[in-house]
Amino acid sequence: MPIQVLHDHTVAQIAAGEVVERPASVVKELLENALDAGATSVQISVEGGGRKRIRLSDNGSGIASEDVGLAFSRHATSKLHTIDDLASIATLGFRGEALASIASVSQVSLATRHRNEDTGTQIRVEGSVIVQQQPAGTPEGTVISVENLFYNTPARLKFLKKESTEKRRILSIVTRYAMAYPDVRFLLEQDGREVFRSSGSGQLADVVVKALGLDNFRNMVEVELTDTEHGKLDPVNVVGYASTPDFSRADRSHITLFVNGRHVQDSKLTYAVVQAYHTLLMKGRYPIAILMIDIAPGEVDVNVHPAKAEVRFRDANAVFSAVQRAVRQAVVGFSRTPDVRSGRFGGFATTQPATTWGSHGLREPAQLDMELPLEDAGRYPGQRETGEARDSVDPSEIPEGLGAPQKPRTLPMLRVVGQVGAMYIVAEGPAGMYLIDQHAAHERILYEQFMDTFDNQNVIAQHTLAAQTVEFPSSEARLVEDNLGILQSVGFDLESFGPNAFVVRAVPGMLADADPLEVVSAIVDDLAQEKSPGREAIEGKIILRVCRQAAVKAGQVLSHDEMQGLIRQLERCRSPHTCPHGRPTMLHISGDQLAREFGRA
Ligand code: ADP
Ligand code: MG
Repeated sequence: MPIQVLHDHTVAQIAAGEVVERPASVVKELLENALDAGATSVQISVEGGGRKRIRLSDNGSGIASEDVGLAFSRHATSKLHTIDDLASIATLGFRGEALASIASVSQVSLATRHRNEDTGTQIRVEGSVIVQQQPAGTPEGTVISVENLFYNTPARLKFLKKESTEKRRILSIVTRYAMAYPDVRFLLEQDGREVFRSSGSGQLADVVVKALGLDNFRNMVEVELTDTEHGKLDPVNVVGYASTPDFSRADRSHITLFVNGRHVQDSKLTYAVVQAYHTLLMKGRYPIAILMIDIAPGEVDVNVHPAKAEVRFRDANAVFSAVQRAVRQAVVGFSRTPDVRSGRFGGFATTQPATTWGSHGLREPAQLDMELPLEDAGRYPGQRETGEARDSVDPSEIPEGLGAPQKPRTLPMLRVVGQVGAMYIVAEGPAGMYLIDQHAAHERILYEQFMDTFDNQNVIAQHTLAAQTVEFPSSEARLVEDNLGILQSVGFDLESFGPNAFVVRAVPGMLADADPLEVVSAIVDDLAQEKSPGREAIEGKIILRVCRQAAVKAGQVLSHDEMQGLIRQLERCRSPHTCPHGRPTMLHISGDQLAREFGRA
């Protein structure tokens, strides 16, 4: 084929691919236009998963009659004049591409009336060509209807997913924008059925309830932080909701982020949210979060991607750490004791069919009541990692004469009953029975102790009595060499001794009784497996390993005093309900549940 300059229309269709990938992207662009126009009410109706028709009507400013035709030209926008405007852009759109792109791959009708004009305009554009334009009496605002999407680009059409998938994506876009704009009323109908509605009350919580359902919302905590830690930067504001650690999902797709009102996909910020749950969630589990991040417009570059889904921060680390801290602060202390009824942890939950209970004329076993362990302890919600005193701590619990206890209690007082299988401690509390995994619980205690000293740069290194030498295969020896500094910050003192050998001079204090060679080998194995580079990941991994090695093992018989001591310490952990790997430390069976199981209820 000889080289030819492409037809304008072909150029438009090619370019459209970047902006209009699927029906949900059309919905997104139209929504953004309505919001930019200052609408307080937006109605969306979609047919056939958006392929047949997407109709959006808003009560925004409308378009002046002389501008209507121009709106469909490429790079025509009312939102920006020079590139300098971009630094302080406050609108969602600015590229002037969306309407032109959409109109090049569909048939569009638009009726609009500007708020300063008496008559409106009606226009029809098919495959980039204006086929009709006339004055029309229409209400203030804009109604746009996009029909037969991709009718002239069969290749695109082929790549569309099932109608149900497209519908789901559209719902997800609309609910996300509704959350970001709680003072705007949204209504979404699909094939004539209302599927989402928000009230426009201005309360984020109202929209989150609508979007996630009340049951899910109950498992969310509020996030709110104005971060001024990075002094040079204008403050970063983070508000929203995040799930409690016992409520998680199998992937990251439930983490929704907005930056200055713009929905963004940013893997680094998503990672910051996941990091905030470090040691609280099991591997492979992810939180649900809806976060609105607000920063000065000059701190963020929104012009990275035609669909404007990615942004770049001037100081990405500052934003990252603000997000992480905001979420961490909100969720720490909210992890709860899993109730055995949940059946999540296997065998213990009753699987008795309801009829058995029925035949005895008893109530069916009650449904899982996740609130129970919290309610009766009566003081977990509201606790913050910062250690700020909770209003509800009962001062009578603080033993006198000991001085003020270092930390508030996060579990009810438990009395040790005994040990099962040299693995689990059976304890009794005001709210029933607790089964505690001794190894997991001790790991949690050691982890928090370690982190306290670590954060204060007070790590205790214990010199080994007789310095021992370890030797590794050369690739592993390099790993040790590369990480000597980190190892030292955690309390290890290793010194190169020949090409692949090291002398172990000190180990972290809590490992004083452990075999240093075994510990160091385990750490080297961990390092070899660690995929994410970076000091923090490596440090974290080493600390987890140290705590695991130092913790009492399953299979170790404990004296009554040892068990009681362990429980006393667990009661004062910030996050006593999970081990640092995110697994539960305890199961709880309430008094009511026991009564029901024994047919006493
Ligand atoms: P951009 O939003 O990047 O400016 P678009 O192609 O999405 O580009 O829209 C082009 C222009 O059309 C906008 O700048 C705006 O002036 C006008 N416009 C589009 N939709 C609406 C609407 N719903 N209400 C008012 N004006 C609109
Ligand atoms: Mg736009």
